[in-house]
Amino acid sequence: MPCPLCSSTDHKLRHRVKEYAYLTCQSCGVSVLSPFPQPEEIKAWYADQTYFSLEDGNQGYTDYLSLESGLQRTFARRNKFLGSASFWKGKKILEIGCALGFYPEVLRDIPDMEYTGLDLNTHAINVVREKGFRGIQGDIENIPEKNHYDITVFFDVLEHIPDPFAFFASIQQRMNTEGHILFTTPSTKSFLAGISGKNWVSYIVPHHLLLYEPSSLKRLLAACGFNTIKIAPDIQWVPLSFLNERLSHLIGSLKGLTPHLIKMENAGRKILVPVSNGQMLVRAKKNSEHPINSAATARRNFSC
Ligand SMILES: [Zn+2]
Repeated sequence: MPCPLCSSTDHKLRHRVKEYAYLTCQSCGVSVLSPFPQPEEIKAWYADQTYFSLEDGNQGYTDYLSLESGLQRTFARRNKFLGSASFWKGKKILEIGCALGFYPEVLRDIPDMEYTGLDLNTHAINVVREKGFRGIQGDIENIPEKNHYDITVFFDVLEHIPDPFAFFASIQQRMNTEGHILFTTPSTKSFLAGISGKNWVSYIVPHHLLLYEPSSLKRLLAACGFNTIKIAPDIQWVPLSFLNERLSHLIGSLKGLTPHLIKMENAGRKILVPVSNGQMLVRAKKNSEHPINSAATARRNFSC
């Protein structure tokens, strides 16, 4: 199969994961899931009402809600990467893949901010609306082109997108001149990816379709009319008990320590610890001198 980004057929096996494989394009560096699912199949996964519970099960999360305070601290750090509180003031914000609406909770205190969450999942959108936020069911194409946002965020989304040219072109068309995007996606060049081998937490088949390295991502952004400002390793804050549970699966020798740490937390010490998740945190700005009117234009830019 030719590379979905650069059309090269020169690829190397990166890892086999269950009945799938990740192939790394030798020309542009992106890693591609093989076999690659059909677009209709992909949309059906996320529209499925059981999707969020399935995802939790895959990750070994015992209770997604218990992770909420960690998530909020993670989101606050990501926001700061884009700008201070005054930067966010009065901004029109779009979140793609808003899931159960944990992210907008950290935006509540920003004066005059206007938030819209977008998700394919009806259940997720209902939860977001119950929390008092604006929610739209669908994908980026369901947002009218006349709607222009100042900031578009999407966490853990890009790796699920089969056609990133269409995705970024659609975002670009719906952003203000000075608009910024802020997002996370796994980095195949991360330390965690390197040491984890085929057990890397981001090899989630068949959901993770495309995995990037910083250079292929920068080239993609440029082709789609965005200037990359900064790429940094993402940090996730998790409860100590959660980290401990993960580690004890990996390293048997830590098992002896586990009951003591859990006891500590049960005693009321809600300890959050920062961990590297192997993702990159990306900040980019709309390049208004290069408006992208179609996915085909972006694709052509990428090949040049
Ligand atoms: Zn390629």
